[in-house]
Amino acid sequence: MILPIVAYGDPVLRKKGATVTQNDEGLTVLIANMWETMYASRGVGLAAPQVGKPINLFLVDTTSFEDEDYPSLKKVFINAEILEESGDLWEFEEGCLSIPLIRENVKRKSIIKIKYQDEHFNWHEEQYDGIAARVMQHEYDHVKGVLFVDYLSELKKRLLKNKLINVSKGGVQVDYKMRFPAIR
Ligand code: ZN
Repeated sequence: MILPIVAYGDPVLRKKGATVTQNDEGLTVLIANMWETMYASRGVGLAAPQVGKPINLFLVDTTSFEDEDYPSLKKVFINAEILEESGDLWEFEEGCLSIPLIRENVKRKSIIKIKYQDEHFNWHEEQYDGIAARVMQHEYDHVKGVLFVDYLSELKKRLLKNKLINVSKGGVQVDYKMRFPAIR
């Protein structure tokens, strides 16, 4: 089932995601619905708060970026924790399904070490770089209540203020299902 994606301005996007347990009811269905929702909106990642669930769960599929430098990666991340970020800062243009039509360059470190549980609740500790690391950093931020626009300069934030208010009011045309905080 395709779920509506929560738009910028909704308080759920600012909540710290709660720890997920194996007993969480409906978790398998939620994960299946999140994959369906992500593909329907042509996203490369989706975090549970974006479908209104403030829990530490996100999905990543970087297949659309695939080339020889960036082998594709498709994974479910539960209770993820970024243990370490290293390498050079690099700038990459980020967008977000919750903040449509706004794309901005964000600088992040290039290498991450991440610990997480998969959908069977087995723990993994892995290192990533490039696009995969970038998408994980963006989605990991979502489960911590952080959005990519938070990294922009004060000037950029001021310039974007009205556009962001417009997003929260539903003043954007998108071809996927959304839920806007200002029109409930
Ligand atoms: Zn996002």
